[in-house]
Amino acid sequence: MIELTSVSEMRAWSRAQRRAGRRIGCVPTMGYLHEGHLRLVDRARRAADVVAMSVFVNPLQFGPQEDLARYPRDLARDRAGAAGRGVDCLFVPSVDAMYPVPARVTVDPGTLADHLCGPHRPGHFRGVLTVVAKLLHVIEPDVAVFGRKDAQQAQMIRRMVADLDFAVEIDVAPTVRERDGLALSSRNVYLSPAERRAAAAIPQALAAGHEAFRAGARRAAEIVQAVAAVLARTTALAPEYVEAVDPDALAPMDPVDGGTLLAVAARAGATRLIDNVILGEGLAGDPVVDG
Ligand code: AMP
Repeated sequence: MIELTSVSEMRAWSRAQRRAGRRIGCVPTMGYLHEGHLRLVDRARRAADVVAMSVFVNPLQFGPQEDLARYPRDLARDRAGAAGRGVDCLFVPSVDAMYPVPARVTVDPGTLADHLCGPHRPGHFRGVLTVVAKLLHVIEPDVAVFGRKDAQQAQMIRRMVADLDFAVEIDVAPTVRERDGLALSSRNVYLSPAERRAAAAIPQALAAGHEAFRAGARRAAEIVQAVAAVLARTTALAPEYVEAVDPDALAPMDPVDGGTLLAVAARAGATRLIDNVILGEGLAGDPVVDG
């Protein structure tokens, strides 16, 4: 595995791969890798000949009160994890390498940020789309892989690529979960043992929403109520939103159907956790690993 830190080296590597006739897969991350990230690598490997993974904690997507300074980092471990999974190129740019001057022109998510996490994290998705646009332009992959755990983000990236004619295929992978259903996240490391136990109520609540749908509920309020009732059982969780939205427009959907995206954000102590399910699919098919 080669490790690169400059934009020019990264672009040169990609172009050399392209000249050699190899398809490039790309997995953008903020590091502190877990099995969820590594499954994205597996998918990229299946879809391409070589895989580039980026590890970059993007300041542009953090609000002033958010966890940029304490976001977990462990490059040595990330290196080992990426190499062990067959990443060919690890791109680890500094903030200065990515933003030599402060970004003035950014990518606007439009109405896709009107619901779910958008109103709770002003500017977040502008930061995400801007850095993903930059990474896609630097790496020029044939395919880029993202996780459905961040469903709003994945949908925005699909729309950005379609609306702005990026020449890349976007692949979205299922959410990798721990045995009790909690979605793997770099931020889970923040959780105290009590918060970690409480966090399992999030996938349980989504499963309750899915069950209500299976039992015949079609009004969004009924589904949301089924989710909220489970979340309310634990005082250690403070729900931020429960929303049922159209998976393409990310706007509220009522009545719901089998394609509806049911999404939750909740705080466990200082840690903000998100998760989601497609109503007709449920969580049962999601891959599970030992935490
Ligand atoms: P992050 O490092 O948190 O920015 O995540 C990098 C990529 O990994 C994003 O596309 C995420 O959606 C994806 N990802 C994070 N957690 C999971 C998970 N538990 N299962 C699948 N993909 C994930």
